[in-house]
Amino acid sequence: MQRSVLNSRRIISLLLVLALLLPCFAFAEEQPVRLNSLIKADTEQLEVRFLTTPTNAKSDATLVICHGKEELQVIVVDGGLGNGVCFLELANLRKALMESLGLGDEVKNKNYKLALTLFITHFHKDHVEELCVNILPSSLFTIDAIYMPPATALVTDGTYNNTKNGDIKYRPRILDLVKHHTPSTSVYELEYGQTLELALACGNAKIYAPLEDWGIGDKLKYIESVYYSGGNVLKRKDEVPNVVLNANSEWLHVSLGDYSVLFTGDIMKKKGDRSDEALDLMANAYKDEVISDIVKYPHHGIARNPAAPIVKNQLLKKDGIAVITTDGARAAAGTHLEMLGTSYVTTEDGSYTFIIDEHGVTCHLVE
Ligand SMILES: [Zn+2]
Repeated sequence: MQRSVLNSRRIISLLLVLALLLPCFAFAEEQPVRLNSLIKADTEQLEVRFLTTPTNAKSDATLVICHGKEELQVIVVDGGLGNGVCFLELANLRKALMESLGLGDEVKNKNYKLALTLFITHFHKDHVEELCVNILPSSLFTIDAIYMPPATALVTDGTYNNTKNGDIKYRPRILDLVKHHTPSTSVYELEYGQTLELALACGNAKIYAPLEDWGIGDKLKYIESVYYSGGNVLKRKDEVPNVVLNANSEWLHVSLGDYSVLFTGDIMKKKGDRSDEALDLMANAYKDEVISDIVKYPHHGIARNPAAPIVKNQLLKKDGIAVITTDGARAAAGTHLEMLGTSYVTTEDGSYTFIIDEHGVTCHLVE
C-alpha cells in the first residue's frame, strides 16, 4: 500500500514536471535565431553603403555593416523616405547572409532575425519615414538599440506649423512603434551637448548630440533674424520648425583604425559669410575628433556653402570624399567641392559602397 502511494505520487510529480516543461520546449522552439551572432569575419572590415536616390528629391539612408570577428553588426544611419529602398537592401542582406550560412531554404522563416542598430540624425521625413513604414514593423529584423537626438522645445502654441515639426510628428510615432514591435530595444535619447562613445562589433563610434537647442531663446532668435529677416510671417511659421530640426542634427562618427566616416544629418550652413551657424559651431567644437575620410555632405548637398568648412581641414581629410545624397545637387555642392579640389560622389548615380579595412578606403558604385 505504502509503495503504491509512493508510486502514484511519483507519477503525479513526473506529470507535473512534464506539464511545466512542455511550454518551455515549445518556447525553446520559437526562440528567434539571431543571425548576427552566427557570422564571424576573419579580418575586420567596415562596409558603408550609401543607398541610391535616383528618383527622389532627397533621401538619407546608409547602412554601416561592421564585419567583426565575434559577430556582424548592422547600423542603419537614418532610413530615408518610405520608398522601400532601405528595407529591400536590409531584406536582401539578410537573405545573402542566410544563404552564406547554408540557410537558404529558411529565408521565409521569420524566426531568423537580422539584428539592427538604428541611428537617427533628426526626425525629418526624408530620414525616418522608412523606419516607420517598413523597418520597425517588419518581423525580419530585431532592433538592438536606437539612438536619437534630444527633442526641441520649440513652442507648439500655433506660432509655428506643428505639422512641420518632426519632433512632434515622427518622434512619438517611432517610440510607439519600438514599444509595440520591439519592447526590449534600448532607446538612447541624448541630451544637448552630450557625446557618447560606443564599441562596435569592429571599430568604434562616437555620437555628438547638438550643442544647444536651436528652437528656444537666442538660438531661435538667430534662426528668425538670420534666415527669416524679411518679415514673411507665413514662411516663418512654416519653415522655422524644419530649420530648427536641421540645426539640431545629431552627428555620428564611425572609425576603424586610422580611417573613418562622418554623418552630419542636415546640419545648417546657408551663409558663406558667417561662421556661427550650426555646422560652424559643431565643426569648431569637434573638428579634431571627427575629421574623416568620408563625409556625408550636410543637408544632402542642396547648398554650396557647407563645402568650404567641411573641406578646409575641419571635417574632411585632404584626400577624402564627400557624399551627396540627392539628385540635382551637382550644381550646388558638387561644383563647389570641385573648385576646392575635393572629390565627391552622388547617390543619384546609384548606391555607393565604401570598404574600410586596415589597408585604407575603397569606393564602389552599384548602379
Ligand atoms: Zn534631409
